[in-house]
Amino acid sequence: MDETRGFVLRQTGESTDPTVVCESCGEVIRDYRLAWVMWRDVLGEAVTKPTVLCKKNGCNSQLRYIEFASMELGDYLINLCRNAGMKSDEDFRAALEFANLGDQI
Ligand SMILES: [Zn+2]
Repeated sequence: MDETRGFVLRQTGESTDPTVVCESCGEVIRDYRLAWVMWRDVLGEAVTKPTVLCKKNGCNSQLRYIEFASMELGDYLINLCRNAGMKSDEDFRAALEFANLGDQI
């Protein structure tokens, strides 16, 4: 497993940025609509690591992932936030406003 791909933290200058990197081609995903999260659906396994693959370079269409379960990256991120307790529009708006503050520093 390549530790520099998937859901990672990238150090860029003074900041540390949560980033999604395609686990096949290594491209940084900058448009959530152009990526999928895939996983091997194994009966009886309660926890599994997801694999992030881009659509842009066709990585999500590779034969080796054909039997994987999948969801679009946008759906994954929304469900991740909800499962971490971000449940209301207010929660999302407050988190987005706080994140945007970081861009102004
Ligand atoms: Zn890719």
